[in-house]
Amino acid sequence: MTPASPAAKRTIDFRNHHHLLLEWYASHRRDLPWRRTRSPYRILISEIMLQQTQVARVTLYYRDWLRLFPSFRALAAASKRDVLQAWSGLGYNSRALRLQSLARIVADQQRGRLPADTILLQQLPGIGKYTAHALGCFAFGLSLPVVDVNARRILTRLFSKVTAADEMLDEKCAWEIAASILPRDAAYDWNQALMDLGAGTCTAVNPVCDACPFTDRCSSSHLPVLRLRSVRTPRKEPSFHGVPRRIVRGNILKILHAQSREVAELRSSLSVRLRRHELLAVLSAMQRDGLIEVRKLRGRILVSIASS
Ligand code: SF4
Repeated sequence: MTPASPAAKRTIDFRNHHHLLLEWYASHRRDLPWRRTRSPYRILISEIMLQQTQVARVTLYYRDWLRLFPSFRALAAASKRDVLQAWSGLGYNSRALRLQSLARIVADQQRGRLPADTILLQQLPGIGKYTAHALGCFAFGLSLPVVDVNARRILTRLFSKVTAADEMLDEKCAWEIAASILPRDAAYDWNQALMDLGAGTCTAVNPVCDACPFTDRCSSSHLPVLRLRSVRTPRKEPSFHGVPRRIVRGNILKILHAQSREVAELRSSLSVRLRRHELLAVLSAMQRDGLIEVRKLRGRILVSIASS
C-alpha cells in the first residue's frame, strides 16, 4: 500500500461531525452476536476469530464455540484435539492454540479474568494493539480508538485526497488521528460504526460515497480513482502446485481429526499431490506450531492431532 501523505493533521477538531456517523450507525448497524455482550471472554473469541476470517463465516462458528467452551477455564481445561476440532473450518489453526495458551494463563494466573489494561493485555499470546484496544473499548467500556483496516481506510480518505484506492495512512498516523477524533462519550458506537461503514460503504474499491454520512466532509469523496482496482501484484502466498500451504495444512488436520495416519497413508489421502519431502516439511512446521504430534513406531512415521 502506498502511504498517504503524512500531511494529514493529527490533531483534528471533529466534534461538529460526530453526529453524522453516529446517526448513520443508529439505523445501519449490523446485528452481530458479539455486539450483544460485554463479556471480555466472548468479545475476545470474536476478535480472534475475525482476525483472518470473514464475518459471515465467524457467525457460523461463534455460538458453537461458546457452547463447547463457555469460559477461559473451560477452554483451558479442554484437549488440544477438541480445540482444533471446534476451530476446524475457520482457517489459520495456530490462532486456536494461541487462544488456548492465553486461556491457560488467564485461568491459572489471573483467576479466570482478563486485565482491563491495554498494556497488560498485549503481554498475552495473540493479543496485539488492535485486539487490546477492541477489548478495552468493547468489553471494558474504555474510551479508546480501535483501528482495524476498515477504520484506517476511512481515516485515510477522510483527511487526505488519495491518489489510489489502496492508499493508506501509515499505522502510527492512523492511530493518532483515530484518538484525536474519538467522541469520548460514544467510543463504543463510534468504533463499531467505522467498522460497519468500511465493511459496506467505504469499501476498498468502489465506495458508495452517495450513501456515506461523510460525503460532504470527506477529502476523497467521489474521486474517480476510488473506482479503480489496484494493479499491485498481490503478495504471493506459499503454495504447493498452486494450492496455498494453509489449505494443505487445513486438509491435513481434517484427515487427522478422523484418525491418526502413517505418512504414506496421509499423503495418498490429501486432495493435493505432495512429494514425500514436501509433506514432511509441512508436517515438521505443523509439529513446531503444536498442531500435530509425529512419532516413529517400528520404522513407520505416525502422525496425529496434538492431544494435550
Ligand atoms: S465519502 Fe466516500 S471515500 Fe469518503 S469516507 Fe465516505 S465512502 Fe469513503
